Amino acid sequence: MRPSILDPLFAPATTLAGVGPKLGKVLDRFLGSEAQGARAIDLIFHLPTGAIDRRPSPSIAEAPIGDIATFTARVTEHRPAPAGKKAPYRILVEDESGDVTLVFFHADSRHLGLSLPVGAVRLFSGKLELWDGMRQMVHPERILDPKLAGTLPAFEPVYPLTEGIGPRVMARIVQAAAERCPEMPEWQDPAFLAKNDFPAFRQAIEALHHPADRKAAEGDTVARRRVGYDELLASQIALALVRRQQKKVAGRATSGDGGVRYRIQSALPFELTEGQRKAIADIHADMAKPERMLRLLQGDVGSGKTVVALMAMAAAAEAGRQSVLMAPTEILARQHAERLAPLAQQAGLKLALLTGREKGAGRRQVLEGLADGSIDIAVGTHALFQEGVAFRDLALAVVDEQHRFGVHQRLLLGSKGEAVDVLVMTATPIPRTLSLTWFGDMDISILSEKPAGRKPIVTRAVSSERYDEVVGAIGRAIEGGAQAYWVCPLVQESDTLDVAAAQERYEALREIFGDKVGLLHGQMPGRDKDAAMAAFVAGQTRILVSTTVIEVGVDVPNASVMVIEHAERFGLAQLHQLRGRIGRGQAASTCLLLYKGPLGPVAEARLTIMRETEDGFRIAEEDLRLRGEGEVLGTKQSGSPDWRIARPEIDGDLLVAARDDARLMIERDPHLETPRGQAVRALLYLFERDVAIRLLRAG
Ligand code: ADP
Ligand code: MG
Repeated sequence: MRPSILDPLFAPATTLAGVGPKLGKVLDRFLGSEAQGARAIDLIFHLPTGAIDRRPSPSIAEAPIGDIATFTARVTEHRPAPAGKKAPYRILVEDESGDVTLVFFHADSRHLGLSLPVGAVRLFSGKLELWDGMRQMVHPERILDPKLAGTLPAFEPVYPLTEGIGPRVMARIVQAAAERCPEMPEWQDPAFLAKNDFPAFRQAIEALHHPADRKAAEGDTVARRRVGYDELLASQIALALVRRQQKKVAGRATSGDGGVRYRIQSALPFELTEGQRKAIADIHADMAKPERMLRLLQGDVGSGKTVVALMAMAAAAEAGRQSVLMAPTEILARQHAERLAPLAQQAGLKLALLTGREKGAGRRQVLEGLADGSIDIAVGTHALFQEGVAFRDLALAVVDEQHRFGVHQRLLLGSKGEAVDVLVMTATPIPRTLSLTWFGDMDISILSEKPAGRKPIVTRAVSSERYDEVVGAIGRAIEGGAQAYWVCPLVQESDTLDVAAAQERYEALREIFGDKVGLLHGQMPGRDKDAAMAAFVAGQTRILVSTTVIEVGVDVPNASVMVIEHAERFGLAQLHQLRGRIGRGQAASTCLLLYKGPLGPVAEARLTIMRETEDGFRIAEEDLRLRGEGEVLGTKQSGSPDWRIARPEIDGDLLVAARDDARLMIERDPHLETPRGQAVRALLYLFERDVAIRLLRAG
């Protein structure tokens, strides 16, 4: 149950003074979620994005022109619009240093006469401009009796708005919500607070909504960092609890005599890289421990993760246990199965494929083999962990290209065995900050080098107006023995979107190159997909026109040319993934990014980065910078926390501290029972990470 101290914060926004049902509806739409309407806490965490400087100038002459100015002046003259004219109502005000004309359109002249009589002294604040050499202010934003000047904050916070709520109303209700914030029990380590000069939570919230200067309103303060740190700590503690829960299921030690591994290694047509050896050793060490493995293998496209997976699965087989390799797409699952089957066979292992497409007797056979243990390795899609799939003794689950699988699916897979070791592989070079926020304390192995002999890919951006030249170049390349991918953004031509359709491009290229051209897209029947892929692998087709279905994992080393149409529509991560399909063989590779101008600044920056580097890490960092955290993978994925206050991209130091602190807390106070532990429970509720509290109860 949520601590009652938090109740006022989780009450609906309509419980705030001045928020009636109508305003409440607007707020629900703006700050609420599908599940519930806006609450006070949503307003408290609705932070200003800037501030207006309302510090008074000593005199009119010193007031800034072209900006918000605040000054004290005396009313000297009223100039109503001449009768019958649609001119504005003007009021002259002055001090010893100069004068300003106040301009009011559609004015209530009676009201102006009463509220600003000649001779009255007032504090004015608003945008000051020069008009015909004269200072003027159209509709002052604030007019105050000088006695009340103290009520005007020096820096007025500016909040993001939505239709139906103006700046003053928004400021007022946010402040009302912030005033509800109680003194909280301290959940942070006092020494850490002192070291960082962090205020208490309540004081931090207050400071956030009363910025001391413009910079402060942009979030560059200890107050914002403090609350951001609270959020990071909440998420890290939740992750630590989940991890502990997963590890608690006592794992089983899996180790063998190395025989299968030896046979596989001798059958490989290449030497393993240093990075691969190290990753394999890490994994085997994890598997040999009586704890559950949770390891992320991160390696850029083409770094050779598959063979690492195979060596892990080999170790499981030596112990007489089973493994699965799950791929995000059908095509990739088939490719893996085809690649690995000969190696598995040479090592005396039985490998089977299981996807949604295996039906009837074939499927039954595989299911039986999994249940009786005669199949050592199952390769497939998510069909692997559907109901009705049972294993005799599943030791290891390898999940390839993890970001296509939700956290839930990973957990589900784990449920197929008592304490299945999990190895997650991803080519998406996730910056450290993000991998921490997504996976928490997962162990990580990184393949940082590519296999020897890879040649750099030449990447060029080419305007789509030069289509004919590009086709000519492709023609020469395939005559020289190369194979090319031709990637189109969407399958079906759409008038409104003006996309280069794969189907149409396929037909156009076929007119030129005949049956050397193949087609592959997600809407084709599975059998046709297999055939298209097989023809390309066998070299029967030389150009494969495809959609982004080839984005992940496809490995045809002879393909050394890629054309990406409408490259400006793709995100950086996706471009990098796509380009990773080439540069895998001995030949030099070329990637042509076909774009349709004019390019926006972000698209232009993306294409420039693609030309400049092949370094997946740099690309990911740039992607983060250009697109913001949530979108780094091109899709907002479920299971990735949505930050309200924290900015992991600039609070990287805090993230690491939060992880360490969370780990320590859970070690010392595993059930969150100490006073600090109790406070941490409130913190988890505050940032709505309270699902983790259920795990506490469960065990
Ligand atoms: P990814 O990490 O993108 O999944 P793959 O596992 O598909 O990469 O490997 C890419 C290609 O590199 C494959 O053709 C694979 O056989 C090859 N490869 C893997 N390891 C090595 C190595 N150590 N030396 C040479 N080639 C390798
Ligand atoms: Mg791969």
